[in-house]
Amino acid sequence: MKLLTEYRNPEIVKYYLNEIKKAAKGDWQIMEICGGQTHSLVKNGLLELLPKNVTMIHGPGCPVCVTPISLIDKAIFLMEQGIILCSFGDMVRVPGSKKSLLQAKAEGGDLRILYSPLEAIKIAQENPQKEVVFFAVGFETTAPGNALAVIHAQKLGLKNFSLLTSHVLVLPAMEAILDDKFCKINAFLGAGHVCTITGYKDYHPLVEKYKISIVVSGFEPADLLKGIYHAVVQLENGEHFVENCYERWVSEEGNLPAQKVMDEIFEIGEQEWRGIGKIADSGLVIREKYANFDATKKFEIKSENVRIENGCIAGEILRGNKKPFQCPEFGKRCKPSNPLGAPMVSSEGACAAYYNYYG
Ligand code: SF4
Repeated sequence: MKLLTEYRNPEIVKYYLNEIKKAAKGDWQIMEICGGQTHSLVKNGLLELLPKNVTMIHGPGCPVCVTPISLIDKAIFLMEQGIILCSFGDMVRVPGSKKSLLQAKAEGGDLRILYSPLEAIKIAQENPQKEVVFFAVGFETTAPGNALAVIHAQKLGLKNFSLLTSHVLVLPAMEAILDDKFCKINAFLGAGHVCTITGYKDYHPLVEKYKISIVVSGFEPADLLKGIYHAVVQLENGEHFVENCYERWVSEEGNLPAQKVMDEIFEIGEQEWRGIGKIADSGLVIREKYANFDATKKFEIKSENVRIENGCIAGEILRGNKKPFQCPEFGKRCKPSNPLGAPMVSSEGACAAYYNYYG
């Protein structure tokens, strides 16, 4: 398959592994931001193949993992009011403070698992007597699609459709990680799919401020190893700059039409990250002029700010300070069949990756 098999080619993988081994003299800690990259590294056994002095640190780039508990509780509250809640499948088993969306469905809630927010528009058209809320979670990758859904709903004159959003931005999260006093990261692998939308122009000031290397990388084994190799070369040369190793999709400016759609519907605002806390200007919130599509403004939603003390150290995992094996609950009380925290549920969570491939 074009654009897939060549990036899984064992000869290319061996080539980059060899080049990394030759180039890496110092001890380097490289964070892959995206949970999809974490899964690919673990699934393809790349962590064991890297030299011991090149350590991959897993980042917070799993949108499901960083969605706050209070927002899951809000989604459940809406279901309990008879509202049709639409969600991507990876959210449905994430524990809220008392239950998950799936448990709320088992208790009679109307939960629809969809592949696209546009399907929620169709459901709203077919159920004019009911309110339909799409649980819009994700990084800059999913925000354009959700923004487009609002534009469609407005064009259709739909009054019974809205979004419950938890849209997070990658760049402020990277900055928060670098500001953490325990941060030991020398370089980032930038998330290729996010950069496909945003481009990488905004990374230059971060590189300047923190003297950190950023290499935009894809998700296949050869993509990841190429990105790691280029990061190692920068570090060995004492250089720090933004490098694009996902040239087949990413440009400096990114996808301008997608950015325009996002900008029409959303503005930057404060966002709470599960396990990390509130980060200023780290999320996308619906603009006031589209407030009738914002479920938090349309409905009086009751929820409390809750902290669950169940031994889960997801915050440490998401900040890259600890690995899943270092969680005392890993594989004991916490398994995919009984997740204590979101990183064990989500298909992009680091704990699930370690459990599925090392457990
Ligand atoms: S293993 Fe489970 S309890 Fe531990 S950090 Fe991961 S999700 Fe939380």
